[in-house]
Amino acid sequence: MSMAIGIDLGGTYIKYGLVDDAGNILKKGMIPTRADSGKRDIVIEQIALAIKDVWDNAIDGIGIGTPGIVDNNGVVYESPNLPDWHNLNLRKIFESKFNKNVVVENDANSIVWGEYLFGAGKGTRTIVCLTLGTGLGGGVVINGKLLRGAIYSAAELGHMPVDYKGRKCGCGSTGCIEAYVGRDYIVKSLIRKVRKGRKTIIRKMVDNDLSRITPKIISEAYQKGDKLAEEIWIEMATALGAFLAGIVNLLNPDRIILAGGIAQTGEILFSTVRKTIRERAMKVLAETVEVVPAGLGVDAGIVSGASLVFQK
Ligand SMILES: [Zn+2]
Repeated sequence: MSMAIGIDLGGTYIKYGLVDDAGNILKKGMIPTRADSGKRDIVIEQIALAIKDVWDNAIDGIGIGTPGIVDNNGVVYESPNLPDWHNLNLRKIFESKFNKNVVVENDANSIVWGEYLFGAGKGTRTIVCLTLGTGLGGGVVINGKLLRGAIYSAAELGHMPVDYKGRKCGCGSTGCIEAYVGRDYIVKSLIRKVRKGRKTIIRKMVDNDLSRITPKIISEAYQKGDKLAEEIWIEMATALGAFLAGIVNLLNPDRIILAGGIAQTGEILFSTVRKTIRERAMKVLAETVEVVPAGLGVDAGIVSGASLVFQK
């Protein structure tokens, strides 16, 4: 049995674990990232503490999923949420600290590889995984290999424009798919409709304080039969489905995996995405693709981090 340590580096917490080559977590933990310290050495020290906490001399290596753009040598080019996470050779730092093989990937790329080896992508060859949350992260495995670009991690799927005259996106561009399906954009479009006088039970659910609306509340309202909440999810899922129709035409994947908090909205999201792909992608390509929820659960980031070490 091989083992690896997986690190899921987030802006607030570092989740970490010792994982075997069947994807089972043998030991795990969580500590604060301390990004608020503003010092990159403190964050690096936190990662080292995490590794030591689940250390085993027999590991094959350490896999780190980090936010941001990572190059093919394990250097983080930049990450907006971590202090001075710029031109940072994470691989070299931890290889010299621990004398083990270290693999560093963008967190969305890490998740797609974890899903491919151990989750909802098992048994396929070509998959796309989208993580639906604050932003829209994505990764691609093509013919059994993680898609990487010429220099950087590629697959910045959230920033593919779907409307060249469309909404402003946080990345500075216009009309990116993230600006239609990201958390804040979903909430904003609901609030716009509420302000126009549309009836919804959500008003009551947040005691008229619209700043308290979250995707989770919109989901709860939908479960209770709220028409406006339903409309919001259908709009969001139609945008996502149209985008994915393009991805299906480009890559002809076996499976598309939807991960992240917003993917837990459930059946309305999945059925609308499937229907839109069928309507908009090339017919034969649309017929063969499956759209499924992620398989790895709450510790996906840990298992995926470790899975990077098991790349053959
Ligand atoms: Zn963008």
